[in-house]
Amino acid sequence: MSGAKVATVKVIEPATEGVLAEVAEAGVEDADRAVARAKAAFPAWRAVTPGDRAKLLRRFAAAVADNADELATLEARNVGKPISDARGEVGMVVDVFNYYTGAPERLLGSTIPVAGGVDMTFREPLGVVALIVPWNFPIAITSWKLGPALAAGNTVVLKPAGLTPLTALELERLALAAGIPEGVLNVVVGAGRTVGERLVEHPDVAKVAFTGSTDVGKRIGALAAASIKRVTLELGGKSANIVFADADIDKAAASAPMAVFGNAGQDCCARSRILVERTALDRFMQALEKAVKAVRVGDPLDEKTEMGPLISADHRAKVAAYLEDGAKVAIRGSAPSGRGFWFAPAVLAPVDPRDRAAREEIFGPIVAVIPFADESEAVRIANDTIYGLSGSVWTTNAGRAFRVARALETGTISINSNTSVRVTTPFGGFKQSGIGRELGPNALDHYTELKNVFLSTG
Ligand code: NAD
Repeated sequence: MSGAKVATVKVIEPATEGVLAEVAEAGVEDADRAVARAKAAFPAWRAVTPGDRAKLLRRFAAAVADNADELATLEARNVGKPISDARGEVGMVVDVFNYYTGAPERLLGSTIPVAGGVDMTFREPLGVVALIVPWNFPIAITSWKLGPALAAGNTVVLKPAGLTPLTALELERLALAAGIPEGVLNVVVGAGRTVGERLVEHPDVAKVAFTGSTDVGKRIGALAAASIKRVTLELGGKSANIVFADADIDKAAASAPMAVFGNAGQDCCARSRILVERTALDRFMQALEKAVKAVRVGDPLDEKTEMGPLISADHRAKVAAYLEDGAKVAIRGSAPSGRGFWFAPAVLAPVDPRDRAAREEIFGPIVAVIPFADESEAVRIANDTIYGLSGSVWTTNAGRAFRVARALETGTISINSNTSVRVTTPFGGFKQSGIGRELGPNALDHYTELKNVFLSTG
């Protein structure tokens, strides 16, 4: 036994400010060791037959399902998110893994007519992939990357956010228990600037799949460029929720608060700009006020809670700054006081599209209501952002719904709904919201290389 002290990270519970756990903190050497383990495990993992790889993924999904209650409670306490949301997210992990069990046996190539022989394509795994994950949806976002990565025959080094590492460590344990061989999934809990950057720069890492802020995404893109490393980026958003006067205004207003206050606004898909046709503004604001006041903010472990605390004191201070300097707070919800990083949801109205609150990703429970005159102004304002992740259009005019949906520069649009993410459909950003798509069949393209083989028949 050496007397050397192991560095640790204290994991804080946002609802109580208490220490939930203390976990070993990885350094750069640990990252190197994790990459070496993943590299050593790769040849055997890619050689597992597609049917057996599918079976192992199915067992992994079952292990997550069997431990769903514990995982959901851990996630709810670590992130401060409502237990009902956490349960849904763990359920999604099971669905994602099960969905990608269909992949190993369906990674099809094609035969292409050519002169003088036969030409065919193969989908090859990349090797070691590094998954870098944020703190807002830790286990769900991990699964979006891990499912296709493992299904395609890659091995993985997973770096969760330092604030929320607990479910990632559980996943590592469950993968082993499900029979996924040692070295295929390796979790390192460490700081972004050290461990994260080491993974991005490591010569034995073939690809980085990153979800997080646009600033860090730019840095990762720049570092990865040095070795032409494959990169997918899921970054920030400032999505527009566009409400036309011909919409079901009550329905749109009832749905709007949780479309931005869900996960306490710490959601890349948050519809943090509500664009309302001016002729319907009064009606909309009245209905919105009722809905905002009804949002239940409180203990994440209470079944009825809809919004928990923010992730940390630092983050709360950043969010609160958007209510300073004469911000027009039109509606304010309520939140508990005392210990915990609580923040009462707020609606700013009317907001000028040039204001900071209309342009920056606040990543907290604050929404800007922006009036517009007509369809073309709505589209212009909605597209006047560096981001393009998600958004909604509320109207009863089907032609307008599709015209606007097609005109918006954004990856996912819902018509008369505020949902963004489905296991079977592509999710990702236009513009500075990212590169690549997760979920659905398209994600597999980002975890395989396309190889072309020509056989001469001459
Ligand atoms: P972040 O960018 O600070 O951190 C994300 C991850 O990257 C963490 O694991 C962190 O340790 C690591 N990291 C930080 N600096 C790094 C560096 N220099 N090199 C390598 N890794 C580094 O983001 P966050 O605060 O954890 O999450 C919030 C952000 O994530 C928001 O901007 C949000 O919009 C975005 N997000 C996007 C999506 C999406 O799918 N588009 C989903 C969730 C969150």
